[in-house]
Amino acid sequence: MSRRSGTPIPHTATPESVREVNRSILLGLMRRYSPVSRAELSRRSGIFPSNVSRIVEGLMAEGLLTERRAKPSGRGKVPMLLELRDEYFRVVGIYVQPSETTLAFAGFSGEIQKTWSIPTPATPQAFCEEIRRMLDVIRVEMNLDAKAIRHIGVGVPGFVDAVAGIITCVTTLPAYSGCPLARELERHTAVPVSIDNDCNLGALSELRRLEAHAEGAQSDFLFMSVGDYGVGAGLILRDELYRGHNACFAAEVGHIIMNPDGPRCSCGRSGCLETYISNAATWNRYKPRTPFESRRFRELLDAAANEEPRAVAAIQETANYIALAATNIATILNPAEIVLAGKITEAFPSIRHAVDTLYLSPYARVILRRSWSAREVPLIHGAVCLAVNQAIDTPVFGMSTNILRTDIHRNKITASELE
Ligand SMILES: [Zn+2]
Repeated sequence: MSRRSGTPIPHTATPESVREVNRSILLGLMRRYSPVSRAELSRRSGIFPSNVSRIVEGLMAEGLLTERRAKPSGRGKVPMLLELRDEYFRVVGIYVQPSETTLAFAGFSGEIQKTWSIPTPATPQAFCEEIRRMLDVIRVEMNLDAKAIRHIGVGVPGFVDAVAGIITCVTTLPAYSGCPLARELERHTAVPVSIDNDCNLGALSELRRLEAHAEGAQSDFLFMSVGDYGVGAGLILRDELYRGHNACFAAEVGHIIMNPDGPRCSCGRSGCLETYISNAATWNRYKPRTPFESRRFRELLDAAANEEPRAVAAIQETANYIALAATNIATILNPAEIVLAGKITEAFPSIRHAVDTLYLSPYARVILRRSWSAREVPLIHGAVCLAVNQAIDTPVFGMSTNILRTDIHRNKITASELE
């Protein structure tokens, strides 16, 4: 939204822009409910049936949809069901980690069909070259033509200005800090690119899974991933990813300060949550004289499962810190759930017990749930979800239709009323 003399100047919806928003809404519903009839699309969206039909005809002419007759069930007219053609929307999700980068190939449904891993290049320039090479590999292996890949979504373990497509800071990959990665990667690959913080994308992945299993329920939850050295998080408020007022720093619960005199943190401050609950921190309580190595964390988990006292105590302390963070999060946000991911979730019963019994007041209770998948799978899947979202989201006035849709909802005017 532009500003002059401090006064916001609202954009005005035109019939064309409203149609773009409605098209995006219908594509979003079809992603979620396909196969689906025109009548159901109208019911779920509030868009007039005649307008649904007009948009559907356009989508069919573009080759995005197929139509088939539903199975007859008793009396009445048998409806035609619309299905998205998975092969029409091809996307690639990329998850960048300090030592390894994973690429995932998916269709419109967001279900990952194949993954590839490469060592993470030291500089963003080398990264862009390498991704361009890998896209050629993917096109050959998946038998795609040059323009088949519609969008690339990238998850990065650091602070990201998702709107501008700039990596603000990644402490584990210093050469990437400040890089306008979305623009650079678009220049190298000629494919539209979106980037975001990896745990924001983990939250998006959880949201898609919830949508697939819970009919119509609204989601408010915090996704928190405990890694080897850091703790990331993403916040979903009313079914939308909340990125904060400047789009790059929200829900960074790993950097809640638990003790200002505590251990030095990667963010430059001291005593942040991640310095107490990262896998390295838990390991250092277990075997302080043996340097932490990612692959050895298994030893600690196995020892705790065998009730070895030092291992149990190390994990219990991590569980207590998570419970302390959970009660503070619940007090501020009152989310329905906190979703926990990472290797530490193998000790989930102890962590949930701590959250259920320590610190919480009866008025700020929160459910701790384990992520749908351990390890980094939700973060890779989230990069795919970002790419699918962006591929169906047609920009209007240079704004994403998601933003415009939010504005329309805020003004309590539905798109169908405007049309
Ligand atoms: Zn910190």
